[in-house]
Amino acid sequence: MTGREVEIAGAEKVATQLESKKSWSAFMPPEKEVTLKDLGRKMADFAADREWDQFHSPRNLLLALVGEVGELSEIFQWKGEVPRGLCDWNDAEKEHLGEELSDVLLYLVRLADVCNVNLGESALRKLQKNAVKYPVELCKGNSKKYRELAKKGTVRRNMNNTENIVFHERL
Ligand SMILES: [Mg+2]
Repeated sequence: MTGREVEIAGAEKVATQLESKKSWSAFMPPEKEVTLKDLGRKMADFAADREWDQFHSPRNLLLALVGEVGELSEIFQWKGEVPRGLCDWNDAEKEHLGEELSDVLLYLVRLADVCNVNLGESALRKLQKNAVKYPVELCKGNSKKYRELAKKGTVRRNMNNTENIVFHERL
């Protein structure tokens, strides 16, 4: 490649990057925090523009979600345990991971939407239930399932049909 050709190729690369940056900012202003609602709306528009609503049944979306979880798992397959922060992964590997995590999230959000589940509210409620199921004083630093933790107490089903641990003795 001559010096002039390298210069032109460099300029074209910058122009492409600028173009992709421009279309990205139109898609989502960078200063805005992304919410589950934003993602749900974007997914609904994405499907409507392509007339894909007909394919987005709960079952199809669930199977697509499971497929994406498989693609995400493949990234970690055969690597053994990897350190938090993935400091020894290269940029391409991290980008690939981000893409597969996003595929999982996007199908999950879409599935919740077509099932009329408010995912944000539901996740907060579930966290609250888990906090009751796993009291800090009983499970701090301990990864046992709540049924095993219950050896210090009794598992009772409450009015909301969820299971809680009732302690025999105060901890
Ligand atoms: Mg994927």
